[in-house]
Amino acid sequence: MQQAVAAGVTRLIAVGVNLDRSSNAVSLGHAYQEVWAGVGHHPLEPSEPDLAAMHALAKDEMVVVIGEIGLDFEHVGGPHNDLQVQRLNELFAIATELDLPVSVHNRGAAQELLTAISAHHGLRGVMHYFGLEWDWAQRFLDVGFYLSFAGLITRPSREALREVVKRCPADRLLLETDSPYGNAQKRMGVPNRPAYLVDTAELVAELRGISLEQLADQERANAITLFQKMK
Ligand SMILES: [Zn+2]
Repeated sequence: MQQAVAAGVTRLIAVGVNLDRSSNAVSLGHAYQEVWAGVGHHPLEPSEPDLAAMHALAKDEMVVVIGEIGLDFEHVGGPHNDLQVQRLNELFAIATELDLPVSVHNRGAAQELLTAISAHHGLRGVMHYFGLEWDWAQRFLDVGFYLSFAGLITRPSREALREVVKRCPADRLLLETDSPYGNAQKRMGVPNRPAYLVDTAELVAELRGISLEQLADQERANAITLFQKMK
């Protein structure tokens, strides 16, 4: 946390991948002025989500998002695709009912996600760790979603993703670390940390031809717009 604040990263969301970790995230939100929380159930979680407990926890004042949730059709041995879709719709319903945005994980399920998002009127959110090309970016933007970019944009092979970073509307662009994963190229092999968000931010600013300060101002405004309680 000290490193993050020293690096200028002063608003963080700790997301949960199951009920225990979501509860930890809420505790962090109460312990640190810079932290807000996500209540989620990752698509690869083997357990059934306890929807009633998640709903109750998500009412906590520090919870700004339902996430991480989503679909992962590429991981071998995860829950069956149909079961993932059913759970996702249940979690989208909680978000809609509580008027919270969602943070959505996608691996190999972009079309199914668009279908599910479109079925929940009023649902708003962000595609976390966005890694697809512009055609898909456009479709998620068309349903009102934000795109969140991480260290993935620094990989040499990801030229098409850097094009998305350039073309994304300024008011729909978010940044994240996905720590402890998702490090920038220059830090491969060490655990990611919130302070390293600056690696991604520097490249985004360069690609968009703006200063780091201009990007930070826009990001702060975007985060507050989407994650409303995150003032
Ligand atoms: Zn994810």
